[in-house]
Amino acid sequence: MPDLDPDEFRRLGHAFVDWVADHRARITDHDVQPAVEPGSVRRLLTDGALAGGLPETPQPLEELLRTVDEVVVPASTLWQHPGFFGYFPANASLASLLGELLSGGLGAQGMLWSTSPAATEVEQVLLDGFARALGIGEAFTFDGGGGGSIQDSASSAALVALLAALERAGGGAWRESGTDGRERVYVTAETHSSLAKAVRVAGLGARALRVVEPVPGTVSMSPDALAAAVAADIAAGLRPVMVCATVGTTGTGAVDPVRAVAAVAAAHDVWVHVDAAWAGVAGLCPELRHVLDGCELADSFCTDAHKWLLTAFDASLLWVRDATALPRALSITPEYLRNAASESGAVVDYRDWQVPLGRRFRALKLWAVVHGLGLDGLRAHLRGHVAMAVDLAAKVRAEPGLVLAAPPSLALVCLRADTGRGPEADDAATRTLVERVNASGSAFVTHTVVDGRYVMRIAIGAVTTQPEHVAALWQRIRADSAALRREPVQPTA
Ligand SMILES: *Cc1c(COP(=O)(O)O)cnc(C)c1O
Repeated sequence: MPDLDPDEFRRLGHAFVDWVADHRARITDHDVQPAVEPGSVRRLLTDGALAGGLPETPQPLEELLRTVDEVVVPASTLWQHPGFFGYFPANASLASLLGELLSGGLGAQGMLWSTSPAATEVEQVLLDGFARALGIGEAFTFDGGGGGSIQDSASSAALVALLAALERAGGGAWRESGTDGRERVYVTAETHSSLAKAVRVAGLGARALRVVEPVPGTVSMSPDALAAAVAADIAAGLRPVMVCATVGTTGTGAVDPVRAVAAVAAAHDVWVHVDAAWAGVAGLCPELRHVLDGCELADSFCTDAHKWLLTAFDASLLWVRDATALPRALSITPEYLRNAASESGAVVDYRDWQVPLGRRFRALKLWAVVHGLGLDGLRAHLRGHVAMAVDLAAKVRAEPGLVLAAPPSLALVCLRADTGRGPEADDAATRTLVERVNASGSAFVTHTVVDGRYVMRIAIGAVTTQPEHVAALWQRIRADSAALRREPVQPTA
C-alpha cells in the first residue's frame, strides 16, 4: 500500500496538529510580512530539500515539518497574525481547520447529489440556516424556492451569477448563440475587479461594462444615474443584463443603495447581483444588519465566510432567489453523469451551480465553525472588531495631522496624513506611514487611493486580533505621524 496506514496517520497526524497548534500559539514571534527577495524560496528548495528534483523514494513526513519551519514559514505572509490589517482578513480559525480535516478525511467529491448525498444536503441545510441568520430573506432558502451554494470565491460567484443573468435575459438564446455584443452590465468605479473579469470571461468584452456615476459626494451607485444609463442603453438597442451592487467596497467599505438599485433593475427585468464579499457577514448582528438593507430584493447575493467569518479559505456563500437559474445556465449532462436521482428532479446537483464539475465538501468546515462557536460566537467576533474600528476612528478624528479618508465602515478604517502642505506632501507622508508600519514587522497594512489621494487601509478582522493589537498599531502610527510633522519640509522639485 503506497499510502500511510491508519496507525501511521494517527501518529503523524498528532505531530502535524501539534505543529499547527505551536505555529498559531507562537505566531507573534514572526514578522507579519517576511522580507523575501523574489526567487529566494525556489533557490532554497532547489539547493536544499528538493535538490536533485522530486524524491524518487519515500521520505519521512516529519522531515517535511522541518522544511516548512525552515523555508516556508519564514517566507509566508502571516494572515493569521493578530497584527494583520491588510486587504481584508482571511480568517482560518482552528475550528474550521478541524472541519477541513473531516472533509479531507471523507475525501468525497460532491459533484452530484448521488456522488455523496450528505455533501449536498449538509450544504443545503447550512446555507438555508445562514440565509435566515443573515436576515436576507426566506426567498433565498431552498424551502422558499431559492437556494445557496458554497463557491470557491466571490469572483466565481459573480461569474456564475452573470451567466444566469445572461441566460435569463436571452430567454435561452444565449445558451444557443452566445452573446450578441449588445449585453450591458452595470457597476461603479469602486466595484471589485472580479466583475470586470467575469464580463471578460463571459466573452462580453470590456465595452459591456457600464460604470455608473456615484451619488454626488459619495462613491455609492446613484440609482438615478443607473436609471438614466439603463434607459439610454435600451433606447440605443442594447440589452441591460445585470447590475452589481456592492455592500462593502474593497477600497473603503462603501455600500451601494441596494433597495433603490433593485427598484430600477426590476423595472427593466435586470438581474441584481449583490457583492457583499467582506461586509455581508455583518448581517448576523441585528444592529449591523442595516448594511444589507434591500438585499432581500436581489436575484443573487454573495458573502465570503472565508474573509471575516472564521472559515478557512475557500468558502464563498452564494444565494440565488430562483433555484433553477444556475442549472438552466450551466447544466450539461453527458451520459456518464446520468442517474435516477438527478432525473427524478428531487435533488440538487451542485455541479450545475458552478463552473467546475468536481467540488469539495466545503460545508463541513463552515459547520465546524458554527457548531463550535455558535452564532453568538460569530457575532462576538464581528462585534469585537467593529468596536475596535469605532474606537480607532475616534482616535484618528482627534489626532492633529491625521484625518479619516472615508467614513469608517464596520471594521475598516481608512486614514491619511493631513500635513497642511498640500496633496503631494500628504500622499508622501501617508506612504511613509504605511512603509514604517510594515517595516516594524508587528503589523501589516495596505493602501488604496480615494479621490486621487493615497490612503492607509486598516482592515481589522484577524481571528486573534484584540484591542491591544490595534492599540499598538495606533501608537506606532501616531508616533510616526508626529515624527514626520517635526521633520523639515522636503523642497519639491
Ligand atoms: C474580496 C472581494 C472580492 C473577491 O473575493 P474572492 O472571494 O477572493 O474572489 C469580491 N468583491 C469584494 C467586494 C471583495 O471585497
